[in-house]
Amino acid sequence: MKCSKCKREVAEDSLFCEYCGNQVRPLPPQRHDFVTFILWLMGLGGVMAIMIAALQFYTGFIEMIAVIFFCTGLICLYSAYLLLTWKKIGYWLTMGAAGFDFVVMAIFNNRYPFYGGMITVTILSFTIPLVLFFVLQVKKNGRSCWSLLK
Ligand SMILES: [Zn+2]
Repeated sequence: MKCSKCKREVAEDSLFCEYCGNQVRPLPPQRHDFVTFILWLMGLGGVMAIMIAALQFYTGFIEMIAVIFFCTGLICLYSAYLLLTWKKIGYWLTMGAAGFDFVVMAIFNNRYPFYGGMITVTILSFTIPLVLFFVLQVKKNGRSCWSLLK
């Protein structure tokens, strides 16, 4: 392709003209390493939840709670993947899953008092999407990850 400023031929995959320094194509979106770390942590959390659920299924503990754990882990993993590939829907999916868990746990809480109770569920359901929202505001080169999500 040709540089729009100096009209010289530049390599197809280059971002800047090697002769005049002109930007020849838009820069790929960038996120702060901290945001990337948190998103990977979120994916890892999802994998762990799936593994715990799988262990529960394996030991014959086929209860509603294991199913919820499995689904939440899967959604968590998928949300992290969506956010890492710049799709804002990943955030709304996280929020929806947290809300769904809260409602389901509120209904089934009396059957699973050993599970930490509603305090834990409330903290997890409302804190995770809120913390994630603030994490996504961390800026790199003046742009937050949130503003770059599509
Ligand atoms: Zn040029």
